[in-house]
Amino acid sequence: MTDQAGKAEQFQALHIPGKPLILFNIWDAGSARAVTAAGAQALATGSWSVAHANGYDDGEALPLDAVLVCFHDDADRCDCRKPLPGLLLQAREAYGLDLTRSFMIGDRWRDIDAGLSAGCRTVFIDYQYDEPRPLERADFVCGSLKEAAPWILRQTHP
Ligand SMILES: [Zn+2]
Repeated sequence: MTDQAGKAEQFQALHIPGKPLILFNIWDAGSARAVTAAGAQALATGSWSVAHANGYDDGEALPLDAVLVCFHDDADRCDCRKPLPGLLLQAREAYGLDLTRSFMIGDRWRDIDAGLSAGCRTVFIDYQYDEPRPLERADFVCGSLKEAAPWILRQTHP
């Protein structure tokens, strides 16, 4: 049951009289993963939290052309869950992107491996997570997006 109507039915079934449904407001994939692992039955995505997680005020001012999301888990074996490059390939098809001229920026090994599989140049933002770090595979390693920007500009405007 993965179509929109099916999802709506699943969500409706969580509304049980006398048993309040608690909706956790997530702001990115990491918070979604953490809240789901803690037992949340459903997740909400508030515009304020997404906007502020990206450094903007609320009000639809995010300068994004699209947001592509994988709602699956590893067990679903979809082609869009990183480290597989499915979402990047979807973006290539939808927007006519040349992925060899694109950058995949991420803070997890899955991001870097997806970018490499898609033919992108990769930037690993190392937040020192306690998990495998793709230090040798990434084209550039730094500590923040702000540090990544000058390197990306040098690649595209030498
Ligand atoms: Zn997926």
